Amino acid sequence: RKGTAVITGASSGLGLATAKALAETGEWHVVMACRNFLKAEKAAKSVGMSKEDYTVMHLDLASLESVKQFVESFRRAERPLDVLVCNAAVYQPTAKEPSFTAEGFEISVGTNHLGHFLLSRLLLDDLKKSDYPSKRMIIVGSITGNTNTLAGNVPPKANLGDLRGLASGLNGQNSSMIDGGEYDGAKAYKDSKVCNMLTMQELHRRYHEETGVTFASLYPGCIATTGLFREHIPLFRLLFPPFQKYITKGYVSEEEAGKRLAQVVSDPSLGKSGVYWSWNNNSSSFENQLSKEASDAEKAKKLWEVSEKLVGLA
Ligand code: NDP
Repeated sequence: RKGTAVITGASSGLGLATAKALAETGEWHVVMACRNFLKAEKAAKSVGMSKEDYTVMHLDLASLESVKQFVESFRRAERPLDVLVCNAAVYQPTAKEPSFTAEGFEISVGTNHLGHFLLSRLLLDDLKKSDYPSKRMIIVGSITGNTNTLAGNVPPKANLGDLRGLASGLNGQNSSMIDGGEYDGAKAYKDSKVCNMLTMQELHRRYHEETGVTFASLYPGCIATTGLFREHIPLFRLLFPPFQKYITKGYVSEEEAGKRLAQVVSDPSLGKSGVYWSWNNNSSSFENQLSKEASDAEKAKKLWEVSEKLVGLA
């Protein structure tokens, strides 16, 4: 049978390119878990995906209620779950004030981390039930949350501190930042990506042996053309792609990045669990090192426990 992969945020950028790459193999049915149904449907058509290769289902990660409803609708559709890709993200680098999710969490961490945290926890049961030979859960990471790299050292740097802001609800009353500091939209995004990478490792430690599920994260390269930068100032949007192409040489096209993520979904040679994958300039994959904070097992455990409380699992 065909494998079924759920991809969050498959209506543009990396998620869409991955959906297309998987559909083209003829071996995958892609569930596009998106907040904008019409946009997702149009996006699938625009890249030439055929009707039988995908299903669009509604998921708004900025609402925990919507996450629960998505899980229910997915179960009702009676498809197996073979791979889950947590890909969607928001990035608000120029916001002066924080915005908040339906439950009142700062929106970058609320969407990118907490929404996916609840989704992955709920869908783990479904993954366990699958009889697919290689079951995987992938959380898209980023270099920007990784302070052991050049790009990860561009200020403001990611730093979760002692998680005091998250523990106090991330609702702007005490703070809307995980470390309890002043609001900074770019930092909130980077912090959320560190959470993604810590969560993947904690899932691996807690569940890999018991379930056989492969947990992985990746940095697909700098996809300077995606919608992620839509809220950046125009001059940045003009200069960022050539800068990445010619100066840092970290640039990848959406298509190439989609192929990389599709490899993490299905390539037998990328089946190892607990790995953060990256690619060389010649497009060969390797197991990358994470920064000190992004590989801190103590912090991962604490993040897990605090997040469980916030999403109502504990
Ligand atoms: P895009 O902005 O193109 O895609 C983000 C996707 O997330 C969109 O489909 C968007 O939906 C969706 N999304 C946003 N908020 C929600 C929500 N509340 N509920 C459901 N879906 C939502 O960016 P990219 O493709 O670049 O980003 C994809 C992933 O890649 C992210 O995890 C990002 O951190 C990561 N990444 C990107 C890099 C880059 O250089 N671009 C580098 C490293 C990592 P909609 O279409 O409705 O807006």
